[in-house]
Amino acid sequence: MRCPKCGGQDDKVIDSRSSKEGATIRRRRECLACEHRFTTYEQIEHDPLMVVKRDGRREMFSKEKLLSSLQRACQKRPVSEDDLASALERIQEGLAESVDRETTSRAIGERVMRELRKLDPVAYVRFASIYRNFEEATDFVSEVERLGSLPIDDQRQLELIAESEAAAKAKRSP
Ligand SMILES: [Zn+2]
Repeated sequence: MRCPKCGGQDDKVIDSRSSKEGATIRRRRECLACEHRFTTYEQIEHDPLMVVKRDGRREMFSKEKLLSSLQRACQKRPVSEDDLASALERIQEGLAESVDRETTSRAIGERVMRELRKLDPVAYVRFASIYRNFEEATDFVSEVERLGSLPIDDQRQLELIAESEAAAKAKRSP
């Protein structure tokens, strides 16, 4: 690394640590010529990940898009930005393992649901109701039941989602 102060080419690494999820490594360096200390970040470079959608079309994976759907699901829920960021990183790391650099929107959805389920039941069901587009209204109900007993406010939220879900179903099938 070229020293940002004197332009020297030689340095030594004095500290090195990886991020919580291990996706980046932060190195503290010291220039051998002028002893100036600076920090570098290292991260794995991947080929773009392609997502095969339900209708067979392909599009490039977008972290921003994924984050905004996570944020939408967690709107007004007690989920911190930090929790969301770590969830996003875990989802991405899981996806990065696919050798052929290709995944499906379904696989992404399943990972998102796994993460949201741990974070917040309401966010989870919100996302699931949009993403999975439950085949039958009963699937939705059993999913909610599987979550077990919840605080009364959360329970109410889920009932509202279930109601609108049922209304949408009724509209679709005359
Ligand atoms: Zn220097």
